[in-house]
Amino acid sequence: MSGGETPRTESASDNKVVRLVPEKKPKLRVKRRSYDDCEHLPAELDPRLRTVRCLKCGLFLDPMQVLIELVNKHHPYWVNLQRAENEFKRLQKDLVEVRRELRNAKARLRRVQRKGGQTS
Ligand SMILES: [Zn+2]
Repeated sequence: MSGGETPRTESASDNKVVRLVPEKKPKLRVKRRSYDDCEHLPAELDPRLRTVRCLKCGLFLDPMQVLIELVNKHHPYWVNLQRAENEFKRLQKDLVEVRRELRNAKARLRRVQRKGGQTS
């Protein structure tokens, strides 16, 4: 053999070969949605099966990963809540002190008014 291709001639059997590649694009195409596009919220928690499932894409999520993301997302709110509770406790103590001082001031005022009434 010389190694070169021999020119192909069309035979009668070539006309009977069915072409597998369609010439036109199909009109109906299925486009799969990428799971990466989904934020997986809202999610459904099933305590009985111990599963977390995205209600949008239906994917079962890793419960530990969901928990970590929730903690990271809500951590600033927890910090603010803790600060607000501490401030509330401090204001409650201040209110007790203010009420005590008001009671004492009223008592002093009544004593002064009684003494004033006695002298005039
Ligand atoms: Zn999802």
